[in-house]
Amino acid sequence: MKVLKFGGTSVGSAERMKKLSKLIVNDEPKIVVLSAMSGTTNSLVEITTLLRQGKKSDAAAAVNRLEENYARVVAELYDTDDYTEKAAGVLKQHFELLRSFSPERFSDKEERLILSQGELMSTALQNIYLNEHGVPSVLLPALAFMRKDQRDEPDMYFIREVLLRELALHPECTLFITQGYICRNFQGEVDNLKRGGSDYSASIIAAAIGAKEVQIWTDIDGFHNNDPRVVEKTHSISHLSFDEASELAYFGAKILHPTCVIPVQESKIPLWIKNTMNPEAFGTLISAETGPGAIKAVAAKDNITAIKIKSGRMLLAYGFIRRIFEVFEEYKTPIDMITTSEVAVSLTVDDTLNLDKIVGCLKCFGYVEVDHNMTIICVVGNKISESRGLAAKVFNALADIPIRMISFGGSRYNISLLVESVYKKKAMEALNENLF
Ligand code: ASP
Repeated sequence: MKVLKFGGTSVGSAERMKKLSKLIVNDEPKIVVLSAMSGTTNSLVEITTLLRQGKKSDAAAAVNRLEENYARVVAELYDTDDYTEKAAGVLKQHFELLRSFSPERFSDKEERLILSQGELMSTALQNIYLNEHGVPSVLLPALAFMRKDQRDEPDMYFIREVLLRELALHPECTLFITQGYICRNFQGEVDNLKRGGSDYSASIIAAAIGAKEVQIWTDIDGFHNNDPRVVEKTHSISHLSFDEASELAYFGAKILHPTCVIPVQESKIPLWIKNTMNPEAFGTLISAETGPGAIKAVAAKDNITAIKIKSGRMLLAYGFIRRIFEVFEEYKTPIDMITTSEVAVSLTVDDTLNLDKIVGCLKCFGYVEVDHNMTIICVVGNKISESRGLAAKVFNALADIPIRMISFGGSRYNISLLVESVYKKKAMEALNENLF
């Protein structure tokens, strides 16, 4: 069994859904994981925001707009009245639900329920289309098997048990369609795997059933050696190790959700990135093996805030860094990069929701300096921190760019550098020219 995941653009219109069917209908047994149609989750977020703000009629108008889009898709997608009615009937239920919420009784639970509607609709529409064309595909309800435990991690035992049971109900079936992103939490409430989480769904499913491989279908020929939106002349990378891919996914390569690598890495299941626009292209194969060349790629993560805490009390003290970390833990704010000197610690965060409170607490330890609009530039490769001369090459390339922080040796697979965002393009171009 293979697991194939298609993102929002692959189901973004009636035409794309028809094309998608051509890619997935063959004899190979597979589970197809779908995102919501592109734009839907953003619209659902907008609806929840309006409801939270008490703007009931604006929320209703946003629901109407979304419904009109879906009505157009249904009108174009199906050939027969029977199947058009079937699809319209399913959508009606979802839109009735979306209209049933009111600002007076609106909590996180209702919000998560609203956010789950996109994937439920896209998978239903695609499955009905396949059935209309005589393909006996089966819809697997992710809300029945995809569950998180108390630590917010996938409950792999439960997922495996239920999924295998569901699959066994259809021994003849070779094409299963299921929802990415959505799940239940340990209390059984509808929840999700965070924005972009459909990749994660696919790799969790693959690990749970011991799939042969996972394919993440997107609209680019795999990971590129640099960000094609920022620099010219990039090329796709044919092979990456799981570790290299995780670093790239985390540090800005939008192509893959960062957590997605974890389940397949643990189960050693190869993961492909493939291009829906160019299915013949090789793409990127992510596995336990790496490809040739020490330096694989450069990626960047924007909207980073750097925080420096300076204190003479740090000198020869122990427990100081733990106390600083505890502040971030208290406000559930992950730290990306960290560097220390004997009297100062610099670290970066991308979540600034609780920044003021965090800075307030940190001031108890000493002088605090905050810099916004920073970018982490990350150079990723195989055993990069152990290869002679590579660091020199990186720093030579960046000779003209002021660097605020350097993180080297933390992992064998990356060198991270913090620069002001205004220098991002220049830095990425210089690295492109000098490293590849
Ligand atoms: N539909 C969700 C989102 O837009 C999940 C996904 O597409 O992966 O974030």
